[in-house]
This record gives sequence, structure tokens and C-alpha cells, in this order.
Amino acid sequence: MTTDTVEKPAETHAFEADVARLLHMMVHSVYSDKDIFLRELISNAADACEKLRYEAIENPALLAQDADSRITLSLDEAGQKIVIEDNGIGMSREEMIEALGTIARSGTRAFLERIQANKAGEGAQLIGQFGVGFYSCFMVADRVDVVSRRAGSSEAWQWSSDGKGSYSIAAADPASAPSRGTRITLHLMEDAKSYASRWTIERLVKEQSGHVPVPIRVREKPE
Ligand code: ADP
Ligand code: MG
Repeated sequence: MTTDTVEKPAETHAFEADVARLLHMMVHSVYSDKDIFLRELISNAADACEKLRYEAIENPALLAQDADSRITLSLDEAGQKIVIEDNGIGMSREEMIEALGTIARSGTRAFLERIQANKAGEGAQLIGQFGVGFYSCFMVADRVDVVSRRAGSSEAWQWSSDGKGSYSIAAADPASAPSRGTRITLHLMEDAKSYASRWTIERLVKEQSGHVPVPIRVREKPE
């Protein structure tokens, strides 16, 4: 028998029905403005840095040796990937399941209700209005991997999905996981591969995320 502190094995979970519906709409609708995925992921990364600052008021040890918030965008044109990494609060296994598998947020639920009551053409505008958040990355990626480590935790977890109904969750190798925070890898669809180009990403950061209070670095992945 093993002890109860060992890693849980990889598990597959079905998305909540509303999430599956939202993802289906994201992928199959005529939304023209796919660009917004970057704004959403950067805004989540900045929120995570903000949450860490807040928790660190009570518990300064959470900042460890790494007190400066940052967001790093790593581009891999050859590999058709983009990686968004932050050193914010991170997510525990339970937080990942809750945050990336359900629709707990009133904004997204309101969005779903609105879009179901309306014609599809309104979609792009509604996305902008409501901010559908994390799930928008499935407009440009056919696989998304999220590796996260909650600040102060020795464990890291990996969430992966193709956005088609289920996701898997497994222990991540602590050695290659972020020492704190979240790394999101988007495996870009063929028709979205231009999002791995520096020119495109720098333009979008300037246009959409200029107000973000955390420094954003863009780098090309050394191969
Ligand atoms: P919202 O930002 O409106 O809450 P999102 O769909 O954008 O909705 O994100 C859902 C949740 O996933 C967030 O509330 C947060 O709990 C979690 N999350 C997403 N990205 C990150 C991240 N980079 N770091 C920590 N938590 C995150
Ligand atoms: Mg968000």
C-alpha cells in the first residue's frame, strides 16, 4: 500500500454540459475576432499576479525569491505553439478542475443565455462584451496544456484538453513545471499559426493589453 500523499494517477473528466456547449460554439461559430484569446489569457495571468500580491500581504513567504510579477509569451513558429506563462498565484488540482471545467462565473452563464437567445452573428460582439475568458483559447488551438503550481506548493498539475468534451488532469513533473504560477501551451490550429509570429503577438499585446499592470515579455523559443 502507498501512503495518501502520493500522486494521483492521470484522470479524464467530462466538461460540465454548459462548458461543452460553449466550447462547441467557440470552435464552430463564425466568430471573426479570434485575436481576443490573447487578451483573455493575459488578463487571467495578470489577475493571478494580483491575487498573489494580495495573499502575500498575509503570507510574504509566498513571494519566495521571486517578488516581481511577470508574464512571458514564448513563440515557437516551427512547432506552431505559443506559451503564456505567469508567476502568479497558480492553481491547485482542485482549483484547476473547478476553474477550467465548469462555468461557475455569472458572466459566462449570462453570455451563454444571451447567445442562445440571439442569432449567431452577434457572437463576436458578445464575446467582447462579456469576456468569455479562458475557453476562448480553443478558437485558435486544438490542444491546450496548462501546467500550474499554486504558490507555496511542492506539487504541480497538468490539465490538458482538445476542447472536445473532456480534459485530463495528472501530476506534472515538478522539475519542469513553473516554480510558481501557470504555463499555458496552445498548440495552434493550422489556420491560426500566425499567432506564433512575433510581429502578430507584439501588435496584439499593444492593441489589447496595453493597460495590463504586469510587464509582458515576448521571446522566441530557442530551439
Ligand atoms: P474569469 O477570469 O472571468 O474568472 P476565465 O475563464 O478567464 O474567467 O478564467 C476562469 C478561472 O480560471 C479564473 O477565475 C481563475 O480562477 C482560473 N485561471 C485562469 N487562468 C489562470 C492563471 N493564469 N492563473 C491562475 N488561475 C487562472
Ligand atoms: Mg479571465
